[in-house]
Amino acid sequence: MGNSKLNKIKIKNPMKNRFSKITEDLYWARIPLPFRLDHVNIYAINSNDGLVIIDTGIDNRLTRKCWGEIIENISPTLSLSKIIITHHHPDHIGASKFLSKKLNLKVFAPKIELRRIKKIMLYTDIEYGKLLSQNYKEFGLDKKLIERVKHQGNSFKKMVKHLPEINSIENPLTIETKKGIWKGRFDTGHSPSQLSLYDEERKIYLCFDFLLPRISPNISVGIDDNENNVLDGYLKYLNKIKQKMDKNWSVFPGHEYPYTDPSKRALSLIKHHRNRLDTLLKAISKKPISVSEATEILFGKIKNDHDIFFASCEAKSHLNYLINKEKIMKKKQENKDIKYYYVIRN
Ligand SMILES: [Zn+2]
Repeated sequence: MGNSKLNKIKIKNPMKNRFSKITEDLYWARIPLPFRLDHVNIYAINSNDGLVIIDTGIDNRLTRKCWGEIIENISPTLSLSKIIITHHHPDHIGASKFLSKKLNLKVFAPKIELRRIKKIMLYTDIEYGKLLSQNYKEFGLDKKLIERVKHQGNSFKKMVKHLPEINSIENPLTIETKKGIWKGRFDTGHSPSQLSLYDEERKIYLCFDFLLPRISPNISVGIDDNENNVLDGYLKYLNKIKQKMDKNWSVFPGHEYPYTDPSKRALSLIKHHRNRLDTLLKAISKKPISVSEATEILFGKIKNDHDIFFASCEAKSHLNYLINKEKIMKKKQENKDIKYYYVIRN
């Protein structure tokens, strides 16, 4: 098949509750999510060993109902091989236990993502609330919010409930089909080691959450890992994509719609994060700021707790990047508070 054939992607949305065929060996379906981002894209590759289902949605009644219909609609000529989870976020891993049981299939995930989800699932509601409120104190966020999150519980667990037995994906990963060879890559940024898949010959890239067409993927520090320089890993990923995948590539993301020219998208995301870093550095050069202030500078005033979580953890990842570049330093406020400030490093 010629490289340019996929350039004109005709399907904007898959059919409801069934896999739509998008190339000879690739299928696409959608599972609803109860968030502002109201769906997650699910893919399946028809490998030489049978259908490889990739990602699952969060575990709730609606997801289970949708999967029921998707499975009913799978052509009886197709056999099933396994389930692959790209990364540890609940909208991808959530229903893996349900689905593996229903289809009697083994589940596989990248080793580091697996380690991460196992660790998060072990936190009790109290431990999770403590970790989050401790972070928020250090960030200098609102005192009422700090009290509230102590009692919010482990929000991951609410969407995942139980994990199945999950096997580590071996690196390198290749999935062979009658039409091509899909290779896996593992990248840091939106999550610590997301698996994405590409077919070099046909120039098709399943990017999942790392290169969404419209939204900038959330680049956040972890609740128990808030000094991590995840943004550095993500910028490295974007630079690699920019060099490697030109305008002839087609991209199928974990949310929203397919598009072409990943290098252009990678460049615009690089610029987006560079702008944010510049904005923060300029503000800090005028006066020391807390994570709470950095969040407001980047995202404006935020009203709801859910958005504050993502925004403040993303602001923190940008501050961590500037610390690692030796542009700024973290300083403890000189009183009984445990709030930290970021100052210019001379
Ligand atoms: Zn994600």
